[in-house]
Amino acid sequence: MMQSAAQEYKVSKYLTEFQNRRTEEAYQKHIQKIVTRQLRITLVSWAIILLSFAIPDYLALGVSGSFFYLLAYRVIIALSLLLVIANIKPDTDFFKISRAVALVAVAGFTGFMLFFLLRPDITIWVIGMIMIQIVFLMIFIPIRFILAAVVGIYAVVITMATRLALGTTTNDLIGLFFLLMLPYVLGGATTMRLGISQRRQYSLFIQTETINHELMMEIEHRRALELKLKEMASTDPLTGLANRREYETLFMHEIHRARRSGTPLAVCILDLDHFKRVNDAYGHGAGDAVLRCTAGLLKRELRSMDIVGRLGGEEFIILLPETTTEQAGEIGTRLLEALAEMEIDVGKTVIRVTATIGISGLLDEDETFNTIIARADEALYRGKNAGRNRVDIKTS
Ligand code: GH3
Ligand code: MG
Ligand code: MG
Repeated sequence: MMQSAAQEYKVSKYLTEFQNRRTEEAYQKHIQKIVTRQLRITLVSWAIILLSFAIPDYLALGVSGSFFYLLAYRVIIALSLLLVIANIKPDTDFFKISRAVALVAVAGFTGFMLFFLLRPDITIWVIGMIMIQIVFLMIFIPIRFILAAVVGIYAVVITMATRLALGTTTNDLIGLFFLLMLPYVLGGATTMRLGISQRRQYSLFIQTETINHELMMEIEHRRALELKLKEMASTDPLTGLANRREYETLFMHEIHRARRSGTPLAVCILDLDHFKRVNDAYGHGAGDAVLRCTAGLLKRELRSMDIVGRLGGEEFIILLPETTTEQAGEIGTRLLEALAEMEIDVGKTVIRVTATIGISGLLDEDETFNTIIARADEALYRGKNAGRNRVDIKTS
């Protein structure tokens, strides 16, 4: 992972680009907004400077053939620049636009040689202007570095070739070479350093972002896991009801609350009647379906503050806060009616079951979970003996 990331973000020092083309494209996309704006500004500035220098041309040459040649050159390059600017859209391919700008720059430098022919009086100025243009090209125009470097070399070569053609001394040519190379090398070195350090920053940014994203995913995953574990630790897998640990905890809580506030608390144990026969007649799977349906029914019929748990096997426990045993009796009767009416689809056939409920309530101060349950169990036993499908309450 780290190895491939290092490979992905390797910067080529000479190209001043990411070696990986996809990474470079992603980087260009990342900075596109800034680059397109900068490109527009520099190209517009270039056109304005180009056109405005027609004024000194006019002052020196007046309305003459030379003036119009130069003006034509200025207008052609400025129009080309406007054409490129018009084609810069937020989603324009950076490599394409770089090529277009480089082409205009080549035409610009070529045309600029006119000045050596038409303005021999200011040759030194023309050389100075070429130096400035090379700096402008190397530093300010945000195109691919490699293209700027090639166009820069072209500017040096064509300038020297033109001087040579017009007849100049070898010493002058050597001097000219050093003059032109100065802005080229300084500008190039500056841009290279900037380009490399910007890409290093970008790769750090992306890698940090990737790691952050991975961490967030991991946290999310762990949170979900934690939730699931919590649920697994507190529920019965078959019915989704509270398991023993959970309802005992909730029950202790309710006992304390009932004592503090002096409100009643009722406990019911619901045991399915002849459940063994269901298993025997329809199979264990059908028995499980009955248990799940019964659990669903209890959840539906009871209030959200009531606690329903699976005591074990086909026995359920129901805690009814703020409920007297008498009220619990009525609730129990209602539950049994609903249960008896429920049709449970067990695949081949539909079955109905009944249950018996034993009820007890919170009696004295030092009552525990077990003593209350024991009384409810006694009531249940009595209910079974009395013929099942009924509610029995043990109040003392
Ligand atoms: P009674 O009316 O007296 O309560 O009779 P019963 O058959 O319901 O009672 P008994 O305790 O004799 O049988 C309970 C049966 O419940 C025995 C056991 O096979 C079955 N049982 C216990 N847990 C599960 C379970 O998770 N799934 C299924 N399908 N059956 C279970
Ligand atoms: Mg039973
Ligand atoms: Mg039982």
